[in-house]
Amino acid sequence: MTVIVTGGAGFIGSALVRRLNAQGQRVVTVDKLTYAGNPDNLAGLPHPDLHHFEQVDICDRAAIRRIYSTYRPAAVYHLAAESHVDRSIDSPAPFIETNVNGTLVLLEAALDHWRGLDGTAKTQFRHLQVSTDEVYGELGATGRFDENSPYRPNSPYAASKAASDHLARAFGRTYGLPILVTNCGNNYGPHQFPEKLIPLTVLNALEGRRLPVYGQGLQVRDWIHVEDHAAALQLVMEKGRAGETYLIGARGEQRNIDLVNRLCAILDTLVPRQGGASYAELIEFVTDRPGHDARYAIDPAKAERELGWQPRYDLDTGLRATVQWYLDNSVWCRRATAAYDRSRIGLGAAR
Ligand code: NAD
Repeated sequence: MTVIVTGGAGFIGSALVRRLNAQGQRVVTVDKLTYAGNPDNLAGLPHPDLHHFEQVDICDRAAIRRIYSTYRPAAVYHLAAESHVDRSIDSPAPFIETNVNGTLVLLEAALDHWRGLDGTAKTQFRHLQVSTDEVYGELGATGRFDENSPYRPNSPYAASKAASDHLARAFGRTYGLPILVTNCGNNYGPHQFPEKLIPLTVLNALEGRRLPVYGQGLQVRDWIHVEDHAAALQLVMEKGRAGETYLIGARGEQRNIDLVNRLCAILDTLVPRQGGASYAELIEFVTDRPGHDARYAIDPAKAERELGWQPRYDLDTGLRATVQWYLDNSVWCRRATAAYDRSRIGLGAAR
C-alpha cells in the first residue's frame, strides 16, 4: 500500500513522512521545493527504500496525473501550501495559485483515480485536506472553534485555505469522493522554517538580535507539537468518517508575549547569556500585523470522542524539546536560512 504526502519536504509534511516511514509505510512525497521545502528535512529516513521523492508542482496537471498512474495511491495526505500569513499580505497571488488551484488539480486527479478503483480499494481510498483554524477568523476572550464554527477568514492565507477546504468538501458532496478535512492550530517543533515565531525567536536570541513581537503580543494562539499533529493526521486517515471534518488541538492556548517569554526563560537555562542578563531583554514590540486575529482556540472534543485522539506533548515539555532541537541542529538552521535574512515582511506596504 502506497500513500502520497504533498508538501512532504515542509515542516508538518516531513514530520508525517518520518512517522509513516518509521512504521514501514511506502510514501511518495510530492513537493515543489519552494523556499519552505527542504530536502534536509527528509534526510536519514530509517527505510529510504520505501520513500519516493517527486519534485513536482501540485498545479502541474500532467505531472500529478502521471504520479497517480505510476503509484496508484491508497490515500493522499494533502499538505502542500503557501503557509505564511505575512507573505500572503504582501503577495496573495501565489497563495491562490497553490492553495486553491493546486488543490483543485489534486482533487480532480483523485476523483479520476478513485472512480477507476473497485472493491475495498475504492471504499478505503481517502483524500485528506490538511487545513488550519485560521479559516474560522478570530475569537473574543471566550469560546472555542468547533466543527460547526462558521468560516470567516481574515487574511489572504486563511481565505485561500478556506477556499481549498470548500473545494474538498464540495468534491465529497457532489461527486462522492471520500474526503476528510482537518483544521489545526499553530504547530511548533523541529524543522520549522525560521520565518515563524518560535524558530525566529530562538535563532535571533542566540545571535543577540532583537526579538520582534507584533503589537503588544496579546494575540492568543492554540499550540500543538508537530509530532502530535502528524499522529492526529494518521488517526483521522485511518479512523475518520469520510466526508467529516475534525478539529485537531492540544489545549495549548498561549499569548504571543507569554510564549516568547517562555522561550527566553528556557534559553536562559540552556545557554545563559554572558553577564547573566535574560534573553527577554531583547524583546521588541513592533508594528502589528494588518488584520491580526486576536485569538484562536480549538475544541478537539470530536476527535477525542470519535477517534480517541490524545496529544503526547504538553506545551512545557514540547517547547523545551523544540529549543533543544534548534540548539543541536545549527547546520540545519544555517542551511535553511542561507537565503533568508529574517527581516520584517507582511506590513502590506506595497498594497
Ligand atoms: P511549510 O511552508 O513548512 O511547507 C509547505 C510545503 O509545501 C513546502 O515543502 C513547499 O515546498 C511545498 N509546496 C508549496 N507550494 C507547492 C506547490 N505548488 N507544489 C508542491 N509543493 C508545494 O508549511 P507547513 O507549516 O508544514 O504546513 C503544511 C500544511 O499544514 C499547510 O497546508 C498549512 O496550511 C497547514 N497547517 C499549518 C499549520 C502550522 O502551524 N504550520 C497549522 C495548521 C495547518
